[in-house]
Amino acid sequence: MGIFALLRARLPALGMEREFDFSRHTTIGCGGRAAAAVFPASKEELLTLFRVLKQEKIPYFLLGAGANVLPAEERFDGAVVRFSRMQSLRREKSSVVAAAGVTGGALLRFAEKELLSGFEPFTGIPTTVGGGTAMNAGVPARHFADLVEEVEAVAEGEPVLLKAKDCAFGEKESIFTGKTAIVSVRMRGTEGDPETIRRTLAEYRGKRKELPHGRSMGCVFVNPPECPAGKLIECCGLKGARFGGASVSNVHANFILNEGGTASDVAALADFVKEEVRRKTGILLREEIRRFRAEHT
Ligand SMILES: Cc1cc2nc3c(=O)[nH]c(=O)nc-3n(C[C@H](O)[C@H](O)[C@H](O)COP(=O)(O)OP(=O)(O)OC[C@H]3O[C@@H](n4cnc5c(N)ncnc54)[C@H](O)[C@@H]3O)c2cc1C
Repeated sequence: MGIFALLRARLPALGMEREFDFSRHTTIGCGGRAAAAVFPASKEELLTLFRVLKQEKIPYFLLGAGANVLPAEERFDGAVVRFSRMQSLRREKSSVVAAAGVTGGALLRFAEKELLSGFEPFTGIPTTVGGGTAMNAGVPARHFADLVEEVEAVAEGEPVLLKAKDCAFGEKESIFTGKTAIVSVRMRGTEGDPETIRRTLAEYRGKRKELPHGRSMGCVFVNPPECPAGKLIECCGLKGARFGGASVSNVHANFILNEGGTASDVAALADFVKEEVRRKTGILLREEIRRFRAEHT
């Protein structure tokens, strides 16, 4: 029996889709297909799903909004776990408890409505709450780690409650590297006034206009201590470098844009940029993007 049919038979109540196409569900717009995508709507459904994945030895991949993922070219004989049906949002004192699938936009709108500030710097970052927490997404002024108080997750098939310090947040990294699934996150807000929140949102919205347009994963590399990665790449003469349909942006050299290229084009260009920067400057860039890697329970 194929993976989709098996999952459908074992989990008849769960939302599910066959032949999931990574190119349609990632911002970089490339990649192969997966046998199935599953859409749990609650922690209980997620726990049941992980039990079945383990029993049936089916590999899986956790996918949020797909804004920082470089998919694989090859077909994935496994399940993509999606969080788009996990959408609850509630206020607890001056904190917000958001389910993993809540988008950055929905989080910002909710905080604004509740007159809670602190979230404004996340304006325009394509993200889900789960993906943003896993990536410790943000801008220099604020990262998810600055607001996260507690994370409800499923690790090794068991529910766990993690404090921020247990999440080992770092520069675009955390303990959530693909195996442990985030269910919801409690984030600290600050009581604010509507006018200041609105003005701050508009300021951050304005800053986003300078970023390159087109299909990308945002910044590909973490800034090393020596110099912003984009500057380094530019100084190495790599703006405009191209592999098939993938090219280094002429606006911001830390962005790789994809115009009809394949996941292999994008991966080869990222490898090339990293190697050229190392050869010319001696600095080894660390990737911020997450390349597809299947996990097993
Ligand atoms: C145009 C553009 C601009 C961007 N600007 C910024 C920026 O300013 N700052 C910034 O930090 N980033 C930026 N990014 C990158 C991206 O938006 C962030 O990394 C974002 O947080 C990714 O969230 P996501 O939901 O898309 O996660 P995905 O890309 O889907 O996944 C990222 C990682 O998180 C894991 N993951 C996803 N959901 C869960 C979950 N529920 N539980 C556990 N793990 C999970 C995935 O397995 C993967 O390893 C930008 C990207 C683009 C395309």
